[in-house]
Amino acid sequence: MVEKETYEFQAEINQLMSLIINTFYSNKEIFLREIISNASDALDKIRYQSLTDKSILEIEPKLEIKIQADKNTKTLSIIDTGVGMTKTELINNLGTIAKSGTKSFMEALQAGADVSMIGQFGVGFYSAYLVADKVIVETKNVNDTHYVWESAAGGSFTIDKISDPSLTRGTKLVLYLKEDQLEYIEERRLKDLVKKHSEFIQYPINLWVEKEIEKEIEVSNEEEGDQIKNEKDQEKNEGDDKEKKKTKKIKEITHEWQFLNKNKPIWTRKPEEVSREEYSSFYKSLTNDWEDHLAVKHFSIEGQLEFKALLFVPKRAPFDLFEPKKKMNNIKLYVKRVFIMDNCDEIIPEYLNFIKGVVDSEDLPLNISRETLQQNKVLKVIRKNIVKKCLEMFSEISENKDDFKTFYEQYSKNIKLGIHEDTQNRSKLAELLRYRSSRSQDENTTLKEYVSRMKENQTNIYYITGESQKTVENSPFLEKLNQKGHEVLFMIEPIDEYCVQQLKEYEGKKLVCASKEGLNLSENEEEKKAKEEEKEKFEELCKIMKEILGDKVEKVVVSERLSDSPCILVTGEYGWSANMERIMKAQALRDSSMSTYMSSRKTMEINPRNPIIFELKNRIETDKNDKTVKDLVNLLSDTALLTSGFSLDEPHLFAQRIHRMIKLGLSIDDEEIEESQEKLENIPSLDNQPDDEMEAVD
Ligand code: ADP
Repeated sequence: MVEKETYEFQAEINQLMSLIINTFYSNKEIFLREIISNASDALDKIRYQSLTDKSILEIEPKLEIKIQADKNTKTLSIIDTGVGMTKTELINNLGTIAKSGTKSFMEALQAGADVSMIGQFGVGFYSAYLVADKVIVETKNVNDTHYVWESAAGGSFTIDKISDPSLTRGTKLVLYLKEDQLEYIEERRLKDLVKKHSEFIQYPINLWVEKEIEKEIEVSNEEEGDQIKNEKDQEKNEGDDKEKKKTKKIKEITHEWQFLNKNKPIWTRKPEEVSREEYSSFYKSLTNDWEDHLAVKHFSIEGQLEFKALLFVPKRAPFDLFEPKKKMNNIKLYVKRVFIMDNCDEIIPEYLNFIKGVVDSEDLPLNISRETLQQNKVLKVIRKNIVKKCLEMFSEISENKDDFKTFYEQYSKNIKLGIHEDTQNRSKLAELLRYRSSRSQDENTTLKEYVSRMKENQTNIYYITGESQKTVENSPFLEKLNQKGHEVLFMIEPIDEYCVQQLKEYEGKKLVCASKEGLNLSENEEEKKAKEEEKEKFEELCKIMKEILGDKVEKVVVSERLSDSPCILVTGEYGWSANMERIMKAQALRDSSMSTYMSSRKTMEINPRNPIIFELKNRIETDKNDKTVKDLVNLLSDTALLTSGFSLDEPHLFAQRIHRMIKLGLSIDDEEIEESQEKLENIPSLDNQPDDEMEAVD
């Protein structure tokens, strides 16, 4: 005989189980929903396999879920004829391999989340320990023999082969209920729970119910006396039999399976006949969400192609919405009411991966596989329609301010990703964008509203990208734009950079970045003339500054966008902005060859009306080789890097320059400067200039 094997639970799973067992939760009933949902998933899997291999169902053609409570043993069993688990799967799935959701769920619980969220984190199985102190899982997969898993928590579980199995195929969970959880043996309670949480499960759920039936039995002569005494029993003559057999009716307790979920699939009904509560309850059973949905779209497409669909927007984005490896389990594909597959990638674009629902097609072949799906024309049409309906749904959400706020908080990234990827629907998606702006700092504004506020002579939509509202609000790039009364949109999410690259324009108005080249702010001849004059006056200074800065900048020009600051650094119209450079630097796996190409061009713009710039110009006019100028230009350039949103390549050099300025400001004399300089060993001098150059700075 094979020995029973003992395994340790993976540490996080063990922690999770302790938390489930030892913390007080009032909402324990959700365990049944979780287990039924797992059973339903297992049935989906076997049904899908059977589409290509019919023989798989031969041994057990029924696809169903059974619930059986036993008062004597105080157990509750949930049985399915699903795919079952092989030994390896049993060990991995129920104990030794933690999912990313394990930790996230514990964190969520500790932050006050409700235990009913468990299913969303993919650890629903362990909710059995909310009501049971011991769980036994018997399972049979077609590729392996019968196994039994058992654990009373406490850090370990056992795996054993079974010689007298009760299953043909599938899984049976036996929960040994805790003494204070015996309500889950009661028929009424179980019926209510299935109705409440699992009404829309696609497979029959049968409950083992107790029935009292009346039965006639023959009464023997000895018994007759007793029978007369018993008032409740009735006598009856049976036929004209000479011996006149006497019978009596007695009550007998029997059991039978009662079918609980009789509803036909909700999406096959007419939308006007389905109530909000029904949608909500279907949504919850589909997604394991504990909250109602935010919006729903129920429709059918008829004509050349026929399908029905029911799509939901959840109130909350899942915790791992953009985790690259995560397979979203969002749209269930049915063909003529038969479940085909979960997370059918082809049916919905990635940016809509938060949409949940079902699609039921009349045209796809039943035996369609993931491989053939990719080239399927029908599916392409379905996908197009789904996107269209989703956009309609979003636009409906936008009619309610509060709902749209929730929607945008959760899914703005998706909308922006959509703008980046979905050329066809870009302009519709752009209607959903919301930004704070220099004119609307406390409330989001739409592009439409922006356009309606544009000044007569304003042709472009201006925006600035950056790390936070604070940094962009006070950015020197906005000086002139503010002065001229041009509104600027604040784009402060990393994805805005990608989105705006593709959006380019809205209602024929070009989107122009305030921190890039190509910002043409001169509006009339007078301004243009003044600009030309300034350009000429400062040409020499620009040339000298470029010489000093060398490769650090592409060129130095007179700025149109500054009114206060001395200078800034702008990037090429088609290259990365400072913000994009910051984002790319933060990406661990980026390809650095791309960054040298995209982030190479910086143009320094100087403000001809700033006294520092003015004074620099005077200095070089009196002495072309004024040594102070070089150091100051470097300082200005580094400061401009910072105020323009870049990071410094050599912050220590910048710090040295600033420290020297501070010393000068404090009138610390030369000796002291030299002394303290000696202490700072190995610090390179400023761009290899002799240190005494700084003396000239005053
Ligand atoms: P989830 O179901 O969200 O993946 P669970 O913790 O509920 O997470 O279950 C873990 C895994 O155990 C499932 O992914 C599935 O592979 C397996 N499992 C659970 N219940 C069953 C069942 N009734 N039949 C087959 N496999 C099951």
